Amino acid sequence: MNQQRKGRVKHVPQRTCIACRQVAGKRALIRLVRTERGVAVDPTGKHAGRGAYLHPERACWEMVLKGNRLEQALRVKLSGENRQELLAFVHTLPEAEVIRTPKPDDQEAAAFVDGSA
Ligand SMILES: [Zn+2]
Repeated sequence: MNQQRKGRVKHVPQRTCIACRQVAGKRALIRLVRTERGVAVDPTGKHAGRGAYLHPERACWEMVLKGNRLEQALRVKLSGENRQELLAFVHTLPEAEVIRTPKPDDQEAAAFVDGSA
């Protein structure tokens, strides 16, 4: 099981959030993976197994955890305990509906430092 990274690929794979069905770059979404002991959050996105993607937004997580969409996507039965684990993770997420990532240009402009030292 030696998964090597082959070079740098600029192309960003597109994934669909299973809650709101919006397509986003893989890195803009959080991967969930089916494991032996249930569904786990896969922050690296490299865990082997059937995966599903969600926006890092509470609304999307709550939508799939309240229903059975996550179970459908991963073809797994979510135990109550497992659901609680995932809900606990949800509470670490921001409530904002949109995560705005500053463009490099913005950062450059904002990072002006007065080097008076
Ligand atoms: Zn979403």
